[in-house]
Amino acid sequence: ELQAAPTPAPTAHSEALFARARAVTPGGVNSPVRAFRSVGGTPRFIARADGAYLTDADGTRLLDYIGSWGPMILGHNHPAVREAIADALQYGTSFGAPGEREVLLAELVTRLTGVDRVRFVSSGTEATMSALRLARGVTGRKFIVKFRGNYHGHADGLLVEAGSGLMTNADGALGAAAPSSAGVPEEYAGLTLVSEYNDPAALDALMAARGSEVAAVIFEPVVGNAGVLIPTPEFLAALHRVKTHGALLIADEVMTGFRLSLGGATGLLGLRPDLICWGKIIGGGLPVGAYGGRASVMDFVSPQGPVYQAGTLSGNPLAMAAGLATLSALKADPDLYARLGAYTTALADGLRDAASAAGVPISINHIGSMLTAFHLDAPDGSVRTYTDAAASDTKAFARWFQGMLGRGVYWAPSQFESIFVSGVHGDAELNATLDAARAAYLDLR
Ligand code: PLP
Repeated sequence: ELQAAPTPAPTAHSEALFARARAVTPGGVNSPVRAFRSVGGTPRFIARADGAYLTDADGTRLLDYIGSWGPMILGHNHPAVREAIADALQYGTSFGAPGEREVLLAELVTRLTGVDRVRFVSSGTEATMSALRLARGVTGRKFIVKFRGNYHGHADGLLVEAGSGLMTNADGALGAAAPSSAGVPEEYAGLTLVSEYNDPAALDALMAARGSEVAAVIFEPVVGNAGVLIPTPEFLAALHRVKTHGALLIADEVMTGFRLSLGGATGLLGLRPDLICWGKIIGGGLPVGAYGGRASVMDFVSPQGPVYQAGTLSGNPLAMAAGLATLSALKADPDLYARLGAYTTALADGLRDAASAAGVPISINHIGSMLTAFHLDAPDGSVRTYTDAAASDTKAFARWFQGMLGRGVYWAPSQFESIFVSGVHGDAELNATLDAARAAYLDLR
């Protein structure tokens, strides 16, 4: 039965703000995927966020599956996080000197993740960039290895065959090449060797040829930035073999840390990386990143060791308070991860049924509270590499995205992103999402 298309929500305020923003900010946004380039239409300017919902500048309430691209695992504007920030605010906004909250958060992170030492920075990009410098400092080697379609932030040497916003250009067509950005000198990009995710033979061959020159292999332990890709056990085994070449293994848990379990993907999948990078959830919605590892590696970082790394706002008291409140709330609710997984599995089942009833081919990858429904005619779980994901019908995705948005569900505005479920997505949200999805898939016929 065909449902009538929804009455379009008013967007006049978002449109006016976007026009003003374009005059003063490149593309009108401060991070590219927010501009809706690959799905079309005006991005919604957000006025407030509460629980599982956003309210846009025109007053329309949207059921949110972006969660600020990962941090909001407890839902937006969580009372415990808000109160912790308000409490910290009474004592000043930045000290430029050490304070107790940095010690408390470092103690909590080391306990939850098993690293000996952690250094706080202000973004995921700084975390991965600093971890690579550390690996180069420790090993005295120049080259790093990354995987096609993995995204580790926007540092020069990492914008090579990168995922996330770099997987789509303005037309929604694939645009990845090495380097992935103008302004990255070939000499920088030349120090980054690229291998294929979930291809253990390719990684073994690369390390056999170049292993003695490789300082570090950096990877997303579950990929979110090519859409969700789940590592095979064989690939994880090959990743651990890189250590036999004297290279450090760096797990980029900026997205997966504290999301897939309290111990991140490392805990969930039983990984043994030398260094771990964090961002997103560790700051509870304020700007925090971090990197950590065993003492013998981390003590190369200044002022203890010779690898320089610093930050004016590193360990900021408000940001530390938000991170502490978020991780403490996660720790106090051990069933949360099971609930997130159950919601996401029900969402996957419902999307599969809805798409199949409409005759729309999709292929779903999901793990914990991360999910991507690729517009591809392939069995669920068979999308394992960047190349697999890149074959998706991005035009069909864009139309489906608009159908969802028009029905009040704010999905990630790119085929090559994960959505994020929060602890306050419940039965009402699941039913509303699947109602919208059934109609949005029918729109594609
Ligand atoms: N690493 C991964 C896996 C990410 O998903 C991201 C951001 O999406 C980053 C690093 C960069 O983090 P930030 O945007 O905080 O610099």
